[in-house]
Amino acid sequence: MVQFSGGCLCGSIRYQVDAEPKRIANCHCDDCRKATGSAFATNIFVDEAAVVVTQGAPKSFDHTADSGNTMTKQFCDNCGSQLFGFSSGGSGLKSVKVGSIDDASFVQPGLNLFLKHAAPFTQIDRSITCFDGMPE
Ligand SMILES: [Zn+2]
Ligand SMILES: [Zn+2]
Repeated sequence: MVQFSGGCLCGSIRYQVDAEPKRIANCHCDDCRKATGSAFATNIFVDEAAVVVTQGAPKSFDHTADSGNTMTKQFCDNCGSQLFGFSSGGSGLKSVKVGSIDDASFVQPGLNLFLKHAAPFTQIDRSITCFDGMPE
């Protein structure tokens, strides 16, 4: 059953996700800020196999995170929209960028990550679980 669908700004890439989100996190780390071009990224983590690209093919970019893991970002090579991310850490999860979802009204972030890097102007929801970095 399709839980949600989305795509990039230009419409060349479309995807469906057939699983409930495992967790939803606002990440304030420098890498997420650079990648999204925004103050923080809201990432929805789902089983990797549940993300089905139904049109187009995202391009990948690899970089090394503070943890030493290789992080892969997937995006549209036409319009630049960030869509997915995953880590060599072996969690088996893929993150979906909330801004790419068609109807994100169901999204309720449960975590704030890397608050030590949060932009001073960002409004932080302290009522959800907060971490200065990544949880151990
Ligand atoms: Zn695009
Ligand atoms: Zn991040």
